[in-house]
Amino acid sequence: MKLVILSANPNLYSTKRLVEVGEKKGHEMMVVDHTKCDLVIEKKKPIVIYKGKELTDIDGVIPRIGASVTFFGTAVVRQFEMMKVFTATESQALVRSRDKLRSLQILSRASLGLPKTVFSNYSKDVSSVIDKVGGAPLVIKLLEGTQGLGVVLADNRNSAESILEAFNGLQARVIVQEFIKEAKGADLRAFVVDGVVVGAMKRQGKEGEFRSNLHRGGSAEIIELTDEEENAALKAARVMGLGVAGVDMLQSARGPLILEVNSSPGLEGIERATGKNIALQIIKYVERNAE
Ligand code: ADP
Ligand code: GLU
Repeated sequence: MKLVILSANPNLYSTKRLVEVGEKKGHEMMVVDHTKCDLVIEKKKPIVIYKGKELTDIDGVIPRIGASVTFFGTAVVRQFEMMKVFTATESQALVRSRDKLRSLQILSRASLGLPKTVFSNYSKDVSSVIDKVGGAPLVIKLLEGTQGLGVVLADNRNSAESILEAFNGLQARVIVQEFIKEAKGADLRAFVVDGVVVGAMKRQGKEGEFRSNLHRGGSAEIIELTDEEENAALKAARVMGLGVAGVDMLQSARGPLILEVNSSPGLEGIERATGKNIALQIIKYVERNAE
């Protein structure tokens, strides 16, 4: 098969692994930088041009679209959909996953456990916002943030108020969330491919850090999910419409709480922590669906 990986950086671990595993399985693997594609749209003939050439006879696409290029990257994925090429991540699901608030609304509708969250339109009444999540400590998140940047823990009411006022003053959109203390600076990442958890790890923030992101110096180890955690992860990926998903959860006194569902989950952390060939699971998923 001829498979395209949409990635702005061929040197990323995830991109390299997908190329390596795909080639080992006898596929022709092409890394296409979606930010450098041109889309030609005319009557019934959608075309993607890359480096001056039309991309033809593509059997499947594996999008690895960074958050900063969601708008254009999604348009490229949609163009492949118009060309009836199978994509491991659908454009609609990709867009949905990039909107933290919309994602939480969808997860909530599916009765999944979530940290209690408040979103307001730069409310002047920060005090009542704080009350609604049960007071401080609480977590404030920039809606646009990734990799733990823009996630702040406010220990007490005073700091919560001043941080919220500062963000409001900057017209920065934030969500305010109940702080899940029992998680103890750790979270779970379940890697879901085609309705199966193909790997799971527990990430622990470094000493004194409540954020467990690997980019923030956290460490990861393999973990066996409970049935409840596994079901929550699978349901989250399903309602988000994602064939490939990294579902982040907090372990709380009231069961697993979904933090977010990543549509381009990194392979490095999960493959190293679990010793599993996750890239192969993604390639096999595309093989099953691409004609
Ligand atoms: P990002 O998308 O930037 O990674 P997250 O919402 O996943 O932001 O938050 C980053 C980390 O902060 C999480 O992995 C988790 O360890 C911690 N965290 C986030 N929200 C909460 C919360 N409500 N209670 C406790 N810890 C949290
Ligand atoms: N690698 C990021 C982190 O944990 C999460 C992004 C992802 O895997 O989707 O810092």
